[in-house]
Amino acid sequence: MLMFKEEEKGLVPCGIPYIFHKLGDVDKNVMGPKPFIDLGGEVITEKVVDINLDNKIVKTEKGQEFTCEKLVFATGSQVVVPTFISGYDLKNVFYIKKSYNYIKQVFNELQFAKNITVVGGGFIGAEVAEQLALEPDKKVTLVESEPCCFSKAFSKDLCKIATEELHKTAIDVKTSTKVEKIIGIDGKVSSVKLSTGEELPCDAVIMAIGYKPNTELAQKSGLTVNKMGAIIVDNYERTNIKDVCAVGDCSQTIGFLTGRIDNVMLASTATAEARVLGHNLFGIRIKKNFNGTLAVFSTEINGLSMASAGVNDTNAAEANIEYVSATFTDVDTHPTFEDTHPLSVKLFASPLDGSILGGEVWGGKSAGEIINTISMAIQKGVTVYEMVSFQIGSHPLLTAAPTKTVLIKAAEMIIGQIAKK
Ligand SMILES: Cc1cc2nc3c(=O)[nH]c(=O)nc-3n(C[C@H](O)[C@H](O)[C@H](O)COP(=O)(O)OP(=O)(O)OC[C@H]3O[C@@H](n4cnc5c(N)ncnc54)[C@H](O)[C@@H]3O)c2cc1C
Repeated sequence: MLMFKEEEKGLVPCGIPYIFHKLGDVDKNVMGPKPFIDLGGEVITEKVVDINLDNKIVKTEKGQEFTCEKLVFATGSQVVVPTFISGYDLKNVFYIKKSYNYIKQVFNELQFAKNITVVGGGFIGAEVAEQLALEPDKKVTLVESEPCCFSKAFSKDLCKIATEELHKTAIDVKTSTKVEKIIGIDGKVSSVKLSTGEELPCDAVIMAIGYKPNTELAQKSGLTVNKMGAIIVDNYERTNIKDVCAVGDCSQTIGFLTGRIDNVMLASTATAEARVLGHNLFGIRIKKNFNGTLAVFSTEINGLSMASAGVNDTNAAEANIEYVSATFTDVDTHPTFEDTHPLSVKLFASPLDGSILGGEVWGGKSAGEIINTISMAIQKGVTVYEMVSFQIGSHPLLTAAPTKTVLIKAAEMIIGQIAKK
């Protein structure tokens, strides 16, 4: 088993924002291929520049050639570079690339920056801004074109809550605002011009406006991509060419409910796909249990955990999905304890059969796992009626009281709403 990678050291992508404060060091967020090597794998640290799909010949940038029996594209995603914004290529305009060498350089350069503008209030921009703003010597502005941050991941209500939480930090959050131009002096960023007319002085800009599938090599090799630029694969990550597969951010995702082409790029999705492929590379042996991708997002801003899965009011409107929803709020341990946190669950269910279509959770850290329970419920077609008899464990220090399990209470509220219809 051979793995080609561009850089010797790899970063834990989800940990990158925390390099800038909580970890405080790029090398604390490193992962390497040791587990793969321990299993007998061999790593070639060289960029692959050419692939002959017919003969399965892989050519590296140093001209080495390797022949293989099975070929898996796992080339991931790359940052969107806004060439339409003048000044995008000035010195000190940075991106959140999943590259050790690049982030090391960004980390070092940012040590000298006092005034930083982060462009894009999705979860990556918001997490990076939140971490940088915790550094005492930095003034951070977050610019987001939508009225609220996190608009691609959360419902309108949760976006509002998340944006309010960002406002409570030291970040200067500017929503409904676009960066129109990046201005430089002697080739280096000096300010950004906003759609409001304001000119914001800054000595560094971090662009966090999105990612796209990294499929140039795949396309050059002759693989077919969809309109999002992702490699088209079947249910088992197989392309239309025999023994050639694609997995992770570079491969196509299909909406869980709609079956339409989607563009989910998450580590949780990539690893689920990788497990499916790993078990089935030499023939389908384990039936894949999902035909569409359920995007499950989670984050924490200013100590508030927030998570979402599946349908919410925003994506339901886009795909014309009817739903009923209800929110229940209580606390995440028995209420008598001091370190308890508020916890809210909002469920979205079908108005006809009560099947759970989506959910959001916010409050204490347990939100991160409760959303995974909701994700399982959505994937298994669990209804709100079934949720009422869901058997749970409860402990005063660990969970909500069994009389008020937040997820179950939200399901009960939906039953009440359906009954009234
Ligand atoms: C800052 C940040 C935070 C994130 N947080 C979360 C989170 O909290 N939860 C979550 O689920 N997801 C999160 N994500 C998304 C997640 O990181 C991606 O979905 C995940 O990395 C996808 O994994 P992948 O293996 O498909 O691709 P990648 O991680 O992009 O890996 C692709 C690899 O292929 C290599 N490569 C590409 N081309 C070549 C070539 N020609 N030759 C050799 N090697 C090549 C690249 O160098 C790279 O190492 C985050 C992403 C970022 C950037």
